[in-house]
Amino acid sequence: MSTFNGFLREIPYIRVDRFNTYDEDTKIFFLTHCHADHTVGICDEFFLDLKRRNLFLYASPISVRILKNDYPDFTCRLKEVIVGEYSLIQTEYRGEIIYLTYKAIPAGHCPGSVMFLFDTERFQVLYTGDFRIDKHEQFMNKYFKDVTSIETIYLDTTFCKKEFPHFPTRKESLSGLCDLITSWLNRDKTNLIKLTFPATYGSEYLFKGIYESTGFKIHVNERRYNLHKFIPDLDEMIDVDDYKLKLRIHACDNFFCRLANSSPTKICEIKITAMIWTHYQPGDSVVSYEGGNFYRVCASYHPSYNEINDFINYLKPKRIIACVFPQKPDEQIKMLGLLKEMTRNYSKREIDEKFVIDVGKMLKSEDNRKKKLLRNDDLLSSPPRRFKKLQPSDVDLNR
Ligand SMILES: [Zn+2]
Ligand SMILES: [Zn+2]
Repeated sequence: MSTFNGFLREIPYIRVDRFNTYDEDTKIFFLTHCHADHTVGICDEFFLDLKRRNLFLYASPISVRILKNDYPDFTCRLKEVIVGEYSLIQTEYRGEIIYLTYKAIPAGHCPGSVMFLFDTERFQVLYTGDFRIDKHEQFMNKYFKDVTSIETIYLDTTFCKKEFPHFPTRKESLSGLCDLITSWLNRDKTNLIKLTFPATYGSEYLFKGIYESTGFKIHVNERRYNLHKFIPDLDEMIDVDDYKLKLRIHACDNFFCRLANSSPTKICEIKITAMIWTHYQPGDSVVSYEGGNFYRVCASYHPSYNEINDFINYLKPKRIIACVFPQKPDEQIKMLGLLKEMTRNYSKREIDEKFVIDVGKMLKSEDNRKKKLLRNDDLLSSPPRRFKKLQPSDVDLNR
């Protein structure tokens, strides 16, 4: 769960992934993806404010479609970014015309998720949002080859802990999951599968993979179906009409379907998780049997500790800000220690003291906005993590 406050100190006139901390000096808004912890502050009043000041919110085409559906009156305040290419925005800040170059980079976290690489006259800054990269080498060479000196990375630190050294690749998770599904369904023609996910929105690659591998469509409820209609090709793979189609795989989050009339002995429940898979090593099984007809399958939408390490070592930033900062002080110290350790691989400079941005000065009528968060908030929730008060922290090589 993101704890980032939206403010990049290198580019004070933008806000990213937090929309209740801006002020009159904020000129451009960016959204990496539509999970509720990244859309805090997006509401009718926010868009009315954009309209009044003639400002825009930039997001990927899929995120824009989701927002347009939620805010049909404000579609003209949304701008689609071109993924994989540099774009330029001109704005006026404190009486001067300024230019911001940015590149949206696919983040592999959920459909339409992107990172933002910002390029100002003085700094290159990367805001990752939530991300998970497969094929590190290939990906980095494709999108970051031209990156010379990154001042700061605002980083997805969800699993930046030694307990999560590895996660299976997407392909490995999918293959373990499909084997489990096929073996259960082949055992008896009345057998069914019940799938549960940590986040409603983000598991679409698994749906696609299951459909392609097993040929079975997946039963989803209407809310999920309405959200997924924005994702190309997915409508062929999921359906709401369970009784007519006699669907055998269910990701419907309820029992108002054939699951309800079926004997529990016929239902295999599979929970997709990452959080409990501590100390996973390459080659370990991605499936864990939990007793009865219950299994867990490991799939992560965030990078493991080693993946974070590789990412940081490739980009060699001068400063790192943890965008998912733990609540407990001892865990905070541990995370900062790990980030420092990573940076020591390429920098000899001494680093200590964490830096905390004073967001208090720029909080703007937050209370009014809290009441009207994104309407799809539970549908678009992230994997459960306890939320803490806004307080990003960083590792700064210059300090
Ligand atoms: Zn997310
Ligand atoms: Zn169902």
